[in-house]
Amino acid sequence: MTAATETQRDDGLLLTTMPPRPAQVRLAAAVVLCLLAALAAAWPFARMPLDATEPLLPAYAAAILITDLITAVLLFGLFAIERSRAILALATGYLFVAVLVAPWLLTFPGAIDAGMTEATAWIGAARRVGFPLFVLAYATVKDTEPAFPNSPVRGARLVAAATLATVALAALVVAVALAHPGLLPRLMRDDTRMSSAWMVVASLAMALYAVDLALLWRRRRSLLDTWMIVVICTLAIELTLLSFLSSGRLSLGWWAGWLCGLASASILLLVLLSETTTLYVRLARATIAERRARAERLTAVEAFSAAIAHEVNQPLASMVTNADAAMRWLDRPRPDLGEARGALERIAADGHRASQLVASIRAMFRSGAPVRAPLDLTDLVASVLRCQQGEARIGHVSVRADLVPGLPHVVGEPVQLGQVVANLVANAIDAMAGITDRARIVFVQCRSVATEVVVSVADSGPGLDPADRERVFEPFFSTKDSGMGMGLAFCRTVIESHGGRIWAADNAPVGAVFSFALPADVPEAPQ
Ligand code: ADP
Repeated sequence: MTAATETQRDDGLLLTTMPPRPAQVRLAAAVVLCLLAALAAAWPFARMPLDATEPLLPAYAAAILITDLITAVLLFGLFAIERSRAILALATGYLFVAVLVAPWLLTFPGAIDAGMTEATAWIGAARRVGFPLFVLAYATVKDTEPAFPNSPVRGARLVAAATLATVALAALVVAVALAHPGLLPRLMRDDTRMSSAWMVVASLAMALYAVDLALLWRRRRSLLDTWMIVVICTLAIELTLLSFLSSGRLSLGWWAGWLCGLASASILLLVLLSETTTLYVRLARATIAERRARAERLTAVEAFSAAIAHEVNQPLASMVTNADAAMRWLDRPRPDLGEARGALERIAADGHRASQLVASIRAMFRSGAPVRAPLDLTDLVASVLRCQQGEARIGHVSVRADLVPGLPHVVGEPVQLGQVVANLVANAIDAMAGITDRARIVFVQCRSVATEVVVSVADSGPGLDPADRERVFEPFFSTKDSGMGMGLAFCRTVIESHGGRIWAADNAPVGAVFSFALPADVPEAPQ
């Protein structure tokens, strides 16, 4: 894999760089539309007082605190992985507004002391103006940021330092709001109604939201950018309800605004959680797929090695048989040089066959087609049977053949196809090793059927269990003590790579018959 593709894949996996899917963009737009509809619905009733709802405030504040805090923790976690200044800015923003929720609630008129109206308002103002400033930092450092050096110690320290600085800043805001109410302009006319100075703060926050939206819209590339647009829209709707439409604290518009605030706090949290789960599932699937691919690669390597061992073993066994026979002919009181020479010639032929076989197996597993040419299957079968005379004799098997001359040629690789025939005959001889109550016969037939040339090898052995008729062609399926189960798998690979078919059936009255069919090479009729 090239470095470029690797990077592209990483881009698709990180939340901050992952582009939004069309469905996610549609969902984000739907959320904004729903909130606008809620704004329109609440508008006519926004000034209705709901004083009796004051006891709900702690529950509301707790919900905001928890969601903002969890979002901040998740974003800090993301920063620890990605080391992006932008994410750090966003995480700090969420932490800042979370930390200010507790003093906001505690200073709310009536919670501890009725005289803290201004402190509550200034803490609220710091939250309203502070958060869009952090988002501004997120949107502006996003593209130009150099990643922090990739050291875990540095990341953890940065998170700790950012947390401490944020808490200190929040503490400063609270201290100023509490200690010097006289120094600051009055934001509240009384415990519930906002002053014109609050309108300035609200307008400043609205202006910052507008700048945030413009920046995020211009750079919207990632899923995070898309959802931050929704968050800012929600905050703008919240502030409109709270400050411009409601009659003051604890009115319907004020509560509707805070509910929007809760939605805004939850949006990013939900997105982070759902995307993290999606990524986790994707990662788990990728791991499983990779494990399976590795297992398949291993099986292919095993199959390749076993195929070579299996196929080369046959000529080697034949060479040993012929060497034994040659020695017996020479050991006689009057050595039979003619027979010994015949056996030596078969050894030499087997040696050539083994080396050709290795070359042809290598060619089969290499990319690129092996050299194929039109050939006469009848000749090929006859030459294979000549080579297997020794094995047949030792197994007390009589080999009969019905080889009609003049059949159409087929296009193929002779060594591979010869080995297929040799495998089928060797299997037939093996299958009859335990037969003692009838003649051991192998009957090889070559015939032309429709547009194909069919070769079949029938025996008088035990035959096949119907359940095994397909399984015998699978790699490593063997019922023999020393079998590797690669012979028929090799045959199927070769025949199918020649555009043919191979199958097993029952022989009548006993035994099995293995056949393969290859397309006849019919010369094109002259025009
Ligand atoms: P191996 O010879 O190493 O077992 P093969 O793939 O050549 O591997 O054969 C797989 C199995 O198919 C054999 O173990 C045997 O059970 C079955 N088989 C193959 N040929 C015959 C046959 N002519 N008669 C009965 N069973 C056969």
